[in-house]
Amino acid sequence: MTGRAAVVTGAASGIGRATVEQFLDSGRYDVVAGLDVDEAVADLDDEFDGFRGFTVDVADHDTVAAVVETIEESAAIHTLVNNAAISEYAWLGDLTPDAWHRVLDVNLTGQYNLAHAVGPLLYEREAGSIVNVSSGAGQRGSASGGVHYSASKAGILGLTKGLAKQLRPHVRVNCVVPGLIDTPLTHDSGLWTEEGIEAFTDRVPLERLGRPEEIAEAIDFLAGPRGSYVTGSVVNVDGGADLI
Ligand code: NAD
Repeated sequence: MTGRAAVVTGAASGIGRATVEQFLDSGRYDVVAGLDVDEAVADLDDEFDGFRGFTVDVADHDTVAAVVETIEESAAIHTLVNNAAISEYAWLGDLTPDAWHRVLDVNLTGQYNLAHAVGPLLYEREAGSIVNVSSGAGQRGSASGGVHYSASKAGILGLTKGLAKQLRPHVRVNCVVPGLIDTPLTHDSGLWTEEGIEAFTDRVPLERLGRPEEIAEAIDFLAGPRGSYVTGSVVNVDGGADLI
């Protein structure tokens, strides 16, 4: 095994895809591995030199472990970005146990699955960092989604801080909290109407949606050497949404 690898979940779309591009541009990695349930992730192999796509559900503990083992055979993992998530609206009275568990399984247990497979490798090689992607929903409750989404995203804040303490002193673990970002999750998931997006962005101090690249920039900072004295931090990149 030679070279360095980064692992990004939810790599086929939005913030994950922008992070892959940022990592490839950084020149820090020989391999950027992207995990996604969307089979389109495999097509990115042709689009990006140095990228390897794996179609995998982050909620599937054993498959995640096997994929991480495969990536490690090609290059040593130095960075993990836990970004994959699903979101849906559900009124509390209609929220079924199945829907609750699926959102928790993907959004929170998925991050544990990856951290469980990758964290000990980083710890043993005394290098590396993890960036978990949460949401303002985890800090303030969801503006559009359900309580299951908020609960999963709040869990990520605790997971981040716990991991930062366990994996010390060489492995850094941080969390990025995006605001409302111009991605398919925002436009196509049925959570927001275009009028709702406009009303929300009118109240945000920077008065616009964020771009996926702006979140990827923060992830790249935290993941790489520029973030060398940052761990256990929760970094809001939200145009000031936290203030409203
Ligand atoms: P997106 O829907 O564009 O991308 C998410 C990706 O995750 C998709 O490619 C999807 O196929 C993948 N995915 C979903 N379930 C998966 C699973 N079980 N296993 C593997 N991959 C899976 O969304 P995005 O807006 O880029 O969101 C990325 C992250 O940012 C998420 O954690 C989301 O909660 C968070 N976030 C987004 C916003 C926003 O406004 N878009 C706001 C706050 C937080």
